[in-house]
Amino acid sequence: MSVKVTVWNEFRHEKDPNHPCGRVYPKGIHGCIADFLNQNDGIEARTATLDEPEHGLTDEVLEDTDVLTWWGHMAHHEVSDAVVDKIQQRVLNGMGLILLHSAHFSKIFRRMMGTSCGLRWRELADEHERVWCVDPSHPVAEGLGECFVVPHTEMYGEHFDIPDPDATVFISWYKGGEVFRSGCCWHRGKGKIFYFSPGHETFPIYKQEEVQKVITNAVLWAAPAKNGVFPMTGSVHAKVPPEPYEK
Ligand code: ZN
Repeated sequence: MSVKVTVWNEFRHEKDPNHPCGRVYPKGIHGCIADFLNQNDGIEARTATLDEPEHGLTDEVLEDTDVLTWWGHMAHHEVSDAVVDKIQQRVLNGMGLILLHSAHFSKIFRRMMGTSCGLRWRELADEHERVWCVDPSHPVAEGLGECFVVPHTEMYGEHFDIPDPDATVFISWYKGGEVFRSGCCWHRGKGKIFYFSPGHETFPIYKQEEVQKVITNAVLWAAPAKNGVFPMTGSVHAKVPPEPYEK
């Protein structure tokens, strides 16, 4: 059975004729991401955007989503708190969540982390980023080498105000000497969360093979485990004692 992915994008830079994003991503960042995810036989990706009713994330869509990917930058504040509440509950119930680039400041990431998620940044057109894998056995790193280079990028650097990740898969280096935890995993409830920083909107970073590989791996890793049903209520009171495991 395929992993059902909803690729969410605020989809604002692309609609601005004076912004280069629309030329880099003619189908939108979400269109590019959904296209490469759909090249994987085990993934079924569709898209949702901010200006759709309920941001394209109705109860039906969320219930039918195994993994939600999120790209936002200029309109985080326009995302409704009611939708954020619903996404949080779905993650706690097992839906995977992948946060991309400037989604570090999204309402849903800050909600799931509980910290400011602030970082150091510098936007330069001629700068490259070296992404080092620091957890070679992690599923998100499968098929990737010890490092890869993003030729044109925006610098995101430490300190990144996040809770300690459950796993740090990638650390990036920049020519300014900065470093950054660029690929991090957390568990929240039954859900798995991955943050990946490469993906500035004016550079074709989501067209790069290694970046596509990381995001595809992350989707497969974050898909809900099929481990049976666990109660999610805060206080479960067992009225009937279970059968003892050993008699
Ligand atoms: Zn950016």
